[in-house]
Amino acid sequence: MCLKSPFFRGITILLIIGSIFGTAQAQDGGQGKPPDGTSTIHVVQRGENLFRIAQQYGTTVEAIAQANGITDTRFIEVGQRLLIPNVQVSTPGVNTTYVVQPGESLRTIALKYHSTLDSLATLNDITQPTTLYAGQTITVRQGSDGTEPLTDAGLYVVQSGDTIYRLAIRFGLSIQEIATANDWASANKPLWPGEWVVIPNHPDAGPFVELPAYLADFHIQTVPVKQGESIGLYFTLRQPMQVTGTFIDRPMNLDMDTADPNTPSLNYGGIIGVHSFTTPGVYPLTLTFTDANGVTSTYQVRVSVLDGGYGQENIDVPTERQDLLDSATVQSELDRVIALVSGNSPTRYFNDLMALPAPGAVTSGYGTRRTYAGTTGLSFHGGADFGGAVGTPIYAPTGGVVVLAEQLEVRGKAIIIDHGWGVYTGYWHLSEIFVEVGQTINKGLPIGALGNTGLSTGAHLHWEMWVGGVQVNPIQWAQQSFP
Ligand SMILES: [Zn+2]
Repeated sequence: MCLKSPFFRGITILLIIGSIFGTAQAQDGGQGKPPDGTSTIHVVQRGENLFRIAQQYGTTVEAIAQANGITDTRFIEVGQRLLIPNVQVSTPGVNTTYVVQPGESLRTIALKYHSTLDSLATLNDITQPTTLYAGQTITVRQGSDGTEPLTDAGLYVVQSGDTIYRLAIRFGLSIQEIATANDWASANKPLWPGEWVVIPNHPDAGPFVELPAYLADFHIQTVPVKQGESIGLYFTLRQPMQVTGTFIDRPMNLDMDTADPNTPSLNYGGIIGVHSFTTPGVYPLTLTFTDANGVTSTYQVRVSVLDGGYGQENIDVPTERQDLLDSATVQSELDRVIALVSGNSPTRYFNDLMALPAPGAVTSGYGTRRTYAGTTGLSFHGGADFGGAVGTPIYAPTGGVVVLAEQLEVRGKAIIIDHGWGVYTGYWHLSEIFVEVGQTINKGLPIGALGNTGLSTGAHLHWEMWVGGVQVNPIQWAQQSFP
């Protein structure tokens, strides 16, 4: 394969990683029985769930669960090997679509598809590879020689002293297996530090992404992101550096990912909230790294924000409660909430899927564009409403520290929990509060009871989430973990 095109050489491609797996689309229309022998193994990556994996292979959660004897489809583990039955096989030599993952570049996609930079660029009319963005749909050509895209490989960056013999021993492969995966004509090929080597069957050999020298790993989810959703960012430095970041002109919360604050780590994480009213489009996410000598480098990812598809509604407020809509009251209470949810506690209390805080059905989802009777201007529903009888227990969806537990005018009896890393959840209109400020709580603890206090038009729990000071959809966190 040709990676030495003068056209692309030396261009820094500012994009990053997620899944190392291609999306193979069916080309035969899907009619009839799937052919035999089309099952494959998928190694679960951080941040994946069964729904996304099923989407990727054009199959269903149920089919994967059945093939692997999974009874609770919410729980899969990173590194777990899943049998994916009846994968839809793409025909060699035909065009198929591919969604660019964060950190991927035309170079890494070309490697995955046994293609070349030039042919990918030509196929997609791409003259400037740095315009590629995560979430972009491009056309790839399945190898005309029948080569399938690499779905279970890693991308190793050659270090000084490495030889193909040493790599073969290290990864338990034959020299020929490595040569074949890399489309090398001969296995007697010298390796150069910094060169990429595809290691088959070893996703752990390294992510299929282009990274600057000071980053050992970079992982971002969820991309593309919808208006009102959260993005998780995780990276590993090769040496200690100062890091700051911005996304859509907002500074980003970045925290060292360590269980013990006294033990420094090279692993970092940050959660970004995308505002519900963000205009759909492609936005730069910029990280700035400063080393011990004060030398600064920036690394940029282009992130696609999609329309959330939110609906619209008008809310009537009973006359006796309309005085609460007095704008000074509304504003001062909101200011107080914003001040409480704009912190960034370094201890992270979330690592798996959040539980839903109430057993009832969601009666009104996040993001609906709202007008209120007697007011002008457009706002949006900042949380998810759960129906239920007054007194129904409300449970902590994950661990955290209580930062507010009192009666407010608009929000009624209210609780705010700090989950760390700038992630907060709020619980409004409660009939009772069982926790107090400063209390550390665990997932599943009853924190209060559902009610109809404050500016509420009937018994319900309003559950909301703030990430980096932005109100986001909490339900996403019950469907996807930010590990
Ligand atoms: Zn609500």
